[in-house]
Amino acid sequence: MECRLKAKKCGGCPMLGLDYAEQLKQKEAAVRKLVGKYGPVAPIRGAENPCHYRNKVISTFAAGPGGKLVSGIYAAGTHKVLPVESCLLQDEVLDTVMQAVRAAASTCRYQPYNEDKGTGLLRHCLLRRGVVSGQVMVVLVTAQPVLPGAKNFVRALLAEAEKRHVPVTTVVQNYNPRRTSVVLGEEEKVLYGKGFILDTLCGKTYALSPRSFYQINHDQTEVLYGLAVEAARLTGKEVVLDAYCGIGTISLFLAQKAKQVYGVEIVPPAIADAKDNARRNGIQNAEFYVGKAEEILPHKYETENVKADVIVVDPPRKGCDEALLETIVKMQPERVVYVSCDSATLARDLKYLTANGYKAERLATVDMFPMTVHVETIVLLQKKNS
Ligand code: SAH
Repeated sequence: MECRLKAKKCGGCPMLGLDYAEQLKQKEAAVRKLVGKYGPVAPIRGAENPCHYRNKVISTFAAGPGGKLVSGIYAAGTHKVLPVESCLLQDEVLDTVMQAVRAAASTCRYQPYNEDKGTGLLRHCLLRRGVVSGQVMVVLVTAQPVLPGAKNFVRALLAEAEKRHVPVTTVVQNYNPRRTSVVLGEEEKVLYGKGFILDTLCGKTYALSPRSFYQINHDQTEVLYGLAVEAARLTGKEVVLDAYCGIGTISLFLAQKAKQVYGVEIVPPAIADAKDNARRNGIQNAEFYVGKAEEILPHKYETENVKADVIVVDPPRKGCDEALLETIVKMQPERVVYVSCDSATLARDLKYLTANGYKAERLATVDMFPMTVHVETIVLLQKKNS
């Protein structure tokens, strides 16, 4: 497969030169090498379509030739913006929405933010599309608190989107004054629509806000969650803890087959989404808590005497905090389902859990991120003396 951005050091698709079957082979081998000693690794589940799977796009603004507003990604290892018109990984509808955003921003004479000088207005644009609902969210990240002529911008954006036959369901301004590479700031203002979009995953409908985590590959997420639920082996009687629950996607999927589910997540708007999502889907046996998993779980266990039959963890790349692993071992759930996006930290955490009374029974891998080196691994750990 060819991409013109590769020659320009985009860096987003390190595996692009390999055919897809070879990519899968290499990923499976890499996971086996790191965690194969804990148990047999099932054959990797590849994507049906390895291109255009990203339902989220982050585009950074910059000044192009003649001061023209451009946007794209940082070239690998630099802070130089490489203009992107289309990308092999991104949802093609979002490429077109991004064109509409640039056109509307140019009409409003918005200037790109200059990182070195700290001047200008537009930093990034975050786009998300609900693959099933078709709804599209536009989040404009600004360096200034006020977006001048915001109403005109929205009007221009809707017109530009219509001209290109793509939808824009909601528009949010996010204010990020910090000199940081973190994309989103804390303050938000809804400029148009509801401020969130809906999407359907595994038959449940979810609301997603700008700052909530949402898996970027819809179809492969359904495969992953299917494996997670299977690994949890629920009969309807279990109490399940879902640490790192995001907007409650895995929690609500598990809740249908469990007695009670508790979800824990550090980002407050994600928990607000999770609670709404439970209501939206008529699920009454799921409760959600804001905080660090490594603090909330010990608290639930020590002061509220909560017992869990199954604990699901789906941490970010750095893996689980050791305090969380210690609590899991103290709580003695029958099963731990570990969903990991980094096999190296997974290996570290498996070492701990297998040395403390758990046995890895099943390891499976799902390719959520074709063309990149990343891969998702899911492990079922069973309590040894049960
Ligand atoms: N299970 C969810 C989210 C997985 S991503 C899904 O499949 O959509 C990991 C999540 O962990 C993110 O939402 C992130 O905000 C959250 N997180 C990061 N550190 C955390 C911590 N210490 N305690 C609880 N949640 C945390």
